[in-house]
Amino acid sequence: MKRTEMLLQLQETPVWDMVIIGGGATGLGAALDAASRGYKTLLLERSDFAQGTSSRSTKLVHGGVRYLAQGNIKFVIEALKERGYLLKNAPHLTNDQPFILPVYSYFQKWYYGFGLMLYDYLSGKLSLGKTRILSRKKTLLALPALNPKKLAGGILYYDGQFDDARLAMDIAAAAAEHGAVLLNYTEVTGFKKEKGKISGVECRDRLTGELYSLQTNVVINATGVFSDAVIRLDDPQHLPMIAPSQGIHLVVDTRFFPGGNALIIPKTDDERVLFAVPWNGKILLGTTDTLMEHIDEEPRPLSEEIRFIISHFNRYCHTQIAQKDVLSVFAGIRPLVIKGKKQSSSETSRDHTIVVAVSNLVTITGGKWTTYRKMAEDAVNNALFVGKLEKKECITEALMINELPLSIGKNDPLSIYGNKAWSIGQIMVENPLMAAKIHPDYAYTIAELNWIIANEMPQKLEDILARRMRLLFLDARAAMDCCELVAGYLQLALEKDEKWKLEQVREFKILAQQYLLS
Ligand SMILES: Cc1cc2nc3c(=O)[nH]c(=O)nc-3n(C[C@H](O)[C@H](O)[C@H](O)COP(=O)(O)OP(=O)(O)OC[C@H]3O[C@@H](n4cnc5c(N)ncnc54)[C@H](O)[C@@H]3O)c2cc1C
Repeated sequence: MKRTEMLLQLQETPVWDMVIIGGGATGLGAALDAASRGYKTLLLERSDFAQGTSSRSTKLVHGGVRYLAQGNIKFVIEALKERGYLLKNAPHLTNDQPFILPVYSYFQKWYYGFGLMLYDYLSGKLSLGKTRILSRKKTLLALPALNPKKLAGGILYYDGQFDDARLAMDIAAAAAEHGAVLLNYTEVTGFKKEKGKISGVECRDRLTGELYSLQTNVVINATGVFSDAVIRLDDPQHLPMIAPSQGIHLVVDTRFFPGGNALIIPKTDDERVLFAVPWNGKILLGTTDTLMEHIDEEPRPLSEEIRFIISHFNRYCHTQIAQKDVLSVFAGIRPLVIKGKKQSSSETSRDHTIVVAVSNLVTITGGKWTTYRKMAEDAVNNALFVGKLEKKECITEALMINELPLSIGKNDPLSIYGNKAWSIGQIMVENPLMAAKIHPDYAYTIAELNWIIANEMPQKLEDILARRMRLLFLDARAAMDCCELVAGYLQLALEKDEKWKLEQVREFKILAQQYLLS
């Protein structure tokens, strides 16, 4: 993907079949769905791809154990089906993850044991492995950090795991390969209408200030927590439908949680869920569910949320953590859809919602990363109908997003690039200097950096260190250590001056400070 080529196509296309606003999981999924059906598709993202909620998840491809406890069986079955498709269609970025749920009484053992057997049963042929009830001894062997006090045993079950922002990048690339045009840093600022129906969008390139006025048959609004703001560009009287709920994660070293298994506490004493999940060589601890009044493009963790995670982790594990042990902390905001009168996040829907406005604007929101494909299919089906486009069938259920070549093992650090790994490896073969790491403690190389800059449209230092490479999320201090080096390569490729580079480094360091607690 090259931004200059995308801009050229933007200028040369008189009418789009579909314009999609928002480059998170939902919008990118819709772009891939529409383009793979053969529609002339444009996606506009005002920041970077996956800069919002879609890079800040718990990284689980899951049916949602807690929704089962709420009796939402239909939602769980659909998500488990989507879990199976995602693991099959993006094998290079997904894996099975064993989870252990510790139990503290015999009632809990049978209650959760039965529930998680049902969870596995509901996944049918797409099961990732049998749920098993573990003795106290086996639970402690599987989770060496677990505090043994009052422990009665555990339940082992399987779910999926993935790299959210890297998957977003690959969905974007797959959509582009099917002919979609995708632009980051391009904000939709208004709609054009004919006889009350939307006939186009106004947008602004945030990097150059250039304005564009585009024609389209139909528009999909996939802007997550910003859905209400975009609907208001169409209908200023629109009443809010989103209840933004913040969730944070802390990242710590694996020595605090060794063993490779994940922990789930389904109900802490204040009725929350606590996860400790291995991810990219670190441990992710999360999450919270805090209703927010304001939505920030770069949400900040609240001190109460940080305290909750640290104190609860320390209650369940004997490997105690303190603020100084946190390598990175990040916050994301769930686009929950209000069901009735807004009171708490439990009164919101976790399922996805589609609303078609009188103007024909199709808004899709809610749901979760795991179900992005189904959300995209539903959104595009609605868009075809209101845009009066010729109906073509959705093909994404069996559409590979990227593939892992047989010659590359899952443990190879380049495996995250799927079928592009070979060309990155080739850069290092041709010039061994390119195998140098950007930071001594992490596997990311200069070859990857150059490949990313040439192919994945990063426009800012943050785009590389937060989302193409996950260093900001894994270890904010390490990201700061190598940011000048990375900025130098980006400066060269984008033909920017020294002042631009220094400004990028300054902005990035300010951002990275927010990911640190000490
Ligand atoms: C803490 C947390 C943990 C989670 N964990 C999981 C998990 O483990 N598994 C799972 O399946 N799901 C999880 N989710 C849910 C999942 O992350 C979200 O459902 C999903 O990422 C939402 O994607 P989206 O595309 O709808 O929104 P976003 O990713 O927010 O994308 C919307 C995009 O629209 C852009 N935009 C806004 N206005 C405009 C405009 N005017 N013009 C152009 N672009 C615009 C924004 O910049 C943004 O990038 C989690 C969510 C949170 C918050």
